[in-house]
Amino acid sequence: MHKFLQKCDDALAEISAQGRYRRFVALEKLAESFPYYRVTMEGRTRDILVWSTNDYLAMGTHPEVVEAAVEAARRYGAGAGGTRNIAGSSPLHVALEEELADLHGKDAALLFTSGYVSNQASLTAILNALPDWHVFSDAQNHNSMIVGIKGGKSATVHVFKHNDMADLERLLAAAPADAPKIIVFESVYSMDGDIAPLAEICDLADKYNALTYLDEVHAVGMYGPQGGGVSERDGVQSRITIIEGTLAKAYGCHGGYITGDFKVLDYIRSVAAGFIFTTALPPPTVAAALASIRHLRAHDARRKALFDRAETLKRKFREAGLPVMDSTSHIVPLMIGDAAKATEVSMRLIREFGMYATPINYPTVARGTERLRFTPGPKHTDEMMDELVKALVQILEPARQTQGA
Ligand SMILES: *Cc1c(COP(=O)(O)O)cnc(C)c1O
Repeated sequence: MHKFLQKCDDALAEISAQGRYRRFVALEKLAESFPYYRVTMEGRTRDILVWSTNDYLAMGTHPEVVEAAVEAARRYGAGAGGTRNIAGSSPLHVALEEELADLHGKDAALLFTSGYVSNQASLTAILNALPDWHVFSDAQNHNSMIVGIKGGKSATVHVFKHNDMADLERLLAAAPADAPKIIVFESVYSMDGDIAPLAEICDLADKYNALTYLDEVHAVGMYGPQGGGVSERDGVQSRITIIEGTLAKAYGCHGGYITGDFKVLDYIRSVAAGFIFTTALPPPTVAAALASIRHLRAHDARRKALFDRAETLKRKFREAGLPVMDSTSHIVPLMIGDAAKATEVSMRLIREFGMYATPINYPTVARGTERLRFTPGPKHTDEMMDELVKALVQILEPARQTQGA
């Protein structure tokens, strides 16, 4: 056997032994009955109530969004047919970029294949523009930003304690005064559900002459009067150098983007490999995203419903004595603390109760903090929540008694 195949065998055996072998449940998303998905498991087909979609506002199945995609597919076809440079840049792409720039109060926007690629490609491009950057990166930053930062050939990276302004300031103060600096962080952190103090980070950026790069992936569409993210809610859009987002979560479509000053984006457009060397987003996706953004800018009620649903579920979990984690966002994480157990709870929820919530295990979160992550949306009713709480109490209570014994 080739050494590499042996390595695959060994690594997979170890992952399985740690209870964190990743099994993808084949969930068929149904536009008509979302958030019910069709699942065939162990020879049985059922409709399962899904609690952990990132289609937070159910926009992926919204009739206006679906119609926009269908119409664009008929009119323009299924794919873009080229990179932005090679016949792949349509008026739709331009319109979406203009909409995004306007949403975030910026000069310009740039579309990428995904949010992941937008972070990776943009950060690498920025950090290779000058020698010897000093990067200040939140300890809980998403992998796409970490990989983008690692692409900077001569950058010095300082990881600051998660959302800890004293630690950030200590590191900023210790770095050479004249070195180019950039602070890289998120607004809503999707695993703990907490939110960064954006204004305080901007104050530190001003004080130490640092640029700011903000990932608003789990906030766009949901926070701020028009869905411009936490930076819109907190009134700091103009203080952030680059605001990055996705079209794949609350907007329910696909693709990623950055927004910022025209000159900075023109530079990234001209040098970022992950932008230049890949096919432009498909027209149906672009049209759907545009419809979704425009709808959410005009309809605040959907956002209000989201926060009402999240607060209701947190309260119901607390009242039932379930180990709900502190969250100041729309995300409701339930601490389990063990990979095998998180997987088991998730499997029992499906098998015995017809509901699904994703187990979140290492490497997505630290070992010992494995959890289930619930993201109730406008379509999750009080009755559904009561059923969920009943199921979780039944699954988790015996374990709590065992611990006490
Ligand atoms: C999901 C996610 C991304 C990647 O976005 P995609 O559009 O799914 O590629 C980037 N940053 C954070 C914080 C994310 O959670």
